[in-house]
Amino acid sequence: MSDYDYVVVGLGALGAAAAWQLASRGHTVVGLEQFELGHTRGASHDTSRILRHSYHTPAYVRLTCEAYDDWARLEAESGEQMVTVVGGLDLFPPDCAISPVDYVGSLREVGIAFEELSAEEIRARWPVFDPPPGTRGLYQARGAIVPAARGTAAMQRLATSCGATLLGSTRVTRVTDHASHVVVEAGDTAYTCRGVVVAADAWTNRVLVGLGVEIPLTVTLEQPTYFAPPHLSAFQDVPLWIWMDEPSYYGFPCYGEPTVKAAQDCGGPVVDPDRRTTEPDQEMLDRLAAFMRSLLPGSGPVVRSLRCQYTLTPDRDFVLAPVPDHPAVVVGLGSAHGFKFAPTFGRILADLVTTGETTSDVSAFGFDRPGLTDPAYQANWMV
Ligand SMILES: Cc1cc2nc3c(=O)[nH]c(=O)nc-3n(C[C@H](O)[C@H](O)[C@H](O)COP(=O)(O)OP(=O)(O)OC[C@H]3O[C@@H](n4cnc5c(N)ncnc54)[C@H](O)[C@@H]3O)c2cc1C
Repeated sequence: MSDYDYVVVGLGALGAAAAWQLASRGHTVVGLEQFELGHTRGASHDTSRILRHSYHTPAYVRLTCEAYDDWARLEAESGEQMVTVVGGLDLFPPDCAISPVDYVGSLREVGIAFEELSAEEIRARWPVFDPPPGTRGLYQARGAIVPAARGTAAMQRLATSCGATLLGSTRVTRVTDHASHVVVEAGDTAYTCRGVVVAADAWTNRVLVGLGVEIPLTVTLEQPTYFAPPHLSAFQDVPLWIWMDEPSYYGFPCYGEPTVKAAQDCGGPVVDPDRRTTEPDQEMLDRLAAFMRSLLPGSGPVVRSLRCQYTLTPDRDFVLAPVPDHPAVVVGLGSAHGFKFAPTFGRILADLVTTGETTSDVSAFGFDRPGLTDPAYQANWMV
């Protein structure tokens, strides 16, 4: 038996952030991770993630403003540069699956500056892009890259330096709510605490077993890929980009190495996170390489591919809320676009588990929404 104020289950980006925030407020915290810290079997490894203002609702755009502020706090407290501003370009081809109207309207409502560009203007400004005629570009100067593994490690380090105990190779097998306290079982140890943050992403439902809730989650196995452009200098000053159609793709300029990274969004097979391959998939690679040859003809040969899990809710909205009837058990789930919000989610999850409230707008991220409760809800991940 071991006593802490709070237990955090899962130490990827979200759990690391929650442990850091809870420990920095003076609580005793233990974070439990089933694999070694910094492993590559979840969603928070590899080099880079997109941080951007452009989103499909004003509420999301407002939350991105908090994200930029919270990354700045992480930079100040870690002493490390985290945010590399490169500009962000959303590309909407004719008849695209994702409507530019929501993006433009949301940025405008929140007062975030942006530019609208034609295909010709995009080509003139960044000659590496060759978008089809009629493509509309939405350029936002603050689009940025944040480090994935390095950012997660920094939050783990901050958690530890604030007094949290972080344990790798420690799998949580059961969480039981006793009203006055919660018990978290891992191996031979039972941790008694006031509250638990579950940040287990693809394994969330396994951790919640016994609490009477199951979130309709789909786990897919994605495949970011690195290309080596022969004329590297042309790719130094390009923005990160997102192809806003079905299929959807995204990519980065050079970041810390002489490559450019790209991937399909939601392009991988549905998998069981405990039984999936770590090997690259040739068909996915061929599909991405063909797209890269058409949009970025100079992106060059493939250097390497890796696998990474997406854990998707049907509406692609996050879960940031206490489990129904179990206010001491709070879930944080990023629905495969949560890295940019990791420092923000850490703050929100710490608020929710300690006080039941937060100043951030999490009204869309509860358990009681149609995307999670209506079995007939039509999943839509292209937002
Ligand atoms: C290829 C790819 C590209 C992405 N691009 C972006 C992007 O550009 N911008 C963006 O904002 N987001 C992006 N995302 C999404 C973002 O990376 C994820 O939302 C985020 O990293 C999820 O963090 P997490 O801590 O919830 O999950 P994870 O990193 O998977 O961490 C969950 C942890 O819980 C542990 N765990 C599970 N069960 C247990 C248990 N029973 N006991 C102990 N530990 C347990 C797991 O081992 C794991 O370490 C991308 C994701 C992928 C895969």
